[in-house]
Amino acid sequence: MSDLSFELPQEVEETRKRARDFALREFTNELIEHFDETEEYPNEIRKKVFDAGFITIENPWNMLVTMEEFCRVDPGIGLSTLASVFGSEILLLYGTDEQKEKYLYPTLKGEKISAVAVTEPGAGSDVAGISSRIEKTEKGWMLNGHKMFITNGTVADHYYLLARSAPPPSKEKRHHGLTLAIVERRWNGVNPVKLKGKLGMRATDTAEITFENVAVPNENIVGEEGKGFYIIMTFFNISRVYVAAQSVGTAQGILDLLLEYLAEKPASFREMEYVQFALAEISALIEAARNITYKAATKVFSFNPDPALTSMAKYYAAEIANQVANTAFKIVGIEASGSKLEKLYRDAKITEIWEGTSEIEKLVISRMILKKIQEVK
Ligand SMILES: Cc1cc2nc3c(=O)[nH]c(=O)nc-3n(C[C@H](O)[C@H](O)[C@H](O)COP(=O)(O)OP(=O)(O)OC[C@H]3O[C@@H](n4cnc5c(N)ncnc54)[C@H](O)[C@@H]3O)c2cc1C
Repeated sequence: MSDLSFELPQEVEETRKRARDFALREFTNELIEHFDETEEYPNEIRKKVFDAGFITIENPWNMLVTMEEFCRVDPGIGLSTLASVFGSEILLLYGTDEQKEKYLYPTLKGEKISAVAVTEPGAGSDVAGISSRIEKTEKGWMLNGHKMFITNGTVADHYYLLARSAPPPSKEKRHHGLTLAIVERRWNGVNPVKLKGKLGMRATDTAEITFENVAVPNENIVGEEGKGFYIIMTFFNISRVYVAAQSVGTAQGILDLLLEYLAEKPASFREMEYVQFALAEISALIEAARNITYKAATKVFSFNPDPALTSMAKYYAAEIANQVANTAFKIVGIEASGSKLEKLYRDAKITEIWEGTSEIEKLVISRMILKKIQEVK
């Protein structure tokens, strides 16, 4: 997007249209219900997404608008297909040529699936508090630990995993001594267990994983030993714009459903002031969320990220998706129960939780703002 043009390049708009047509054709209501009920991973649709060329790193805007349009039709299938390359930016930025050859390029071709394993039963928002241990041995490294809520956990070929390699030097430097490693799911000692019964996003695969005496070769350490926290935070500053796009798409999908519902109602229903006001508010909020998301993405994609802006986009778009879901549910009332609207309502919730909860995003924003005050002094 060029400065203040508020227009995406034609190529990106064409991708958006292709993504919307693809999702409307392939994410049929039957399949959406199927994956929501069975909680299976939509692997066949993932392959079609690759064959159609939607997963590309050449122009990240194409992935961003695809995320938006896929989630507009179904966030569960949309996210799980696109997130099959989850964490790829980690290797793009910090991987060795050998790591890229072995893990990144096959993933970007759809031959492998990746995952990011940070959260633990006792450490979610508090990333520095993780207790999985990766220790140097004579032959390489040894991993022991426990990860929780890992997307793609049972279907991924490899995880980008954060573990403690050295005790923190002080209370203030708890984020030191963390190291990032590539760990293959099929290695001895790796035990992923699928978690079922999630509120929403049930087409995504989520797992609890234990690691018992897992041997990790030296060449699978990513970046500098002890610097894993910085790598993960750099990654979150990229991935959060995609979650913002997921939120915008989900909110737009809810508005689409609301309009379909209103089209079936008598004109007198649509003319009620509270319905008109709600429609206007929803439309304005989605437009604002889309604009802040694109602004943050402009910075991220031009290698000039603004972490406060990225957190604002992630926080705001997630809140809007949930607010829009609430308002739409109120207008439709009991008829929404068991409908596609109810599904999007359930799917919206995760946007306020993963890649940093809304509270964590607000803390990032306020810390940055307070820093500016100190700089002025
Ligand atoms: C479906 C799903 C998929 C996921 N996929 C992945 C994945 O692929 N990889 C991965 O590593 N993780 C994943 N996660 C984990 C997710 O990132 C965490 O759930 C999230 O970071 C929050 O951590 P927590 O659940 O431990 O909650 P907690 O961190 O315990 O937070 C609980 C509550 O306290 C609030 N809180 C916490 N700290 C503060 C603070 N300092 N100030 C104010 N409020 C605070 C939070 O906002 C929240 O409301 C996934 C989670 C889900 C549900």
